[in-house]
Amino acid sequence: MNGPGKLYFRYGTMGSAKTALLLTQAYNFEERGMQYMCFKPIIDDREKDNVIRSRIGIERKCEWIYPDTDIYELVKGLYEETLVLKDWILIDEAQFLTEAQVDQLSRIVDDYGTNVVCYGLRTDFQSHVFEGSRRLFELADSIDEIKSTCSCGRKTIINARIDGQGNIVTDGAQVEIGGDDKYVALCRRCWRNRRIESANRNTIKFE
Ligand SMILES: [Zn+2]
Repeated sequence: MNGPGKLYFRYGTMGSAKTALLLTQAYNFEERGMQYMCFKPIIDDREKDNVIRSRIGIERKCEWIYPDTDIYELVKGLYEETLVLKDWILIDEAQFLTEAQVDQLSRIVDDYGTNVVCYGLRTDFQSHVFEGSRRLFELADSIDEIKSTCSCGRKTIINARIDGQGNIVTDGAQVEIGGDDKYVALCRRCWRNRRIESANRNTIKFE
């Protein structure tokens, strides 16, 4: 049994280099000869390679987490099969975990002393907290914010969804995969101003 582990939640908006930080952490573990593994909730069934990839071109292999995956049983099985306990587990896109899966992660921390670091978004495009993130705020030993800056200089808070014309989209499904073409990280003030602008633009269009 390892020493006491911790459950970490590191959250930020889109474009705050969360994935790059996760991969840097993985690299550091390799340098120090520490045992780790990576997981990622699968959100797009078309995704074929099980890798976590950052914009800066680094990638690491990961295991997929499906909505019905029991992560505790998965990790327990791996530990029993290999007889090696991992020091660290890194999770990307942790906002997409279910509440039950975050509970399972906390049990991995408590039973095996494995440190689990979850990287994810705080809120969705309507500014409401994601299920996985909420549970992480409730259970994590350590929570820290990965800050990034809005074009106006304030801290980004909101992951706004945009359409092809750059208008703010306020309705739709909570999960919609996309990058810079579909989302822009904004401070609360710019989010409000841009929504007003988008609404005005739409009104004019239909006059
Ligand atoms: Zn701003």
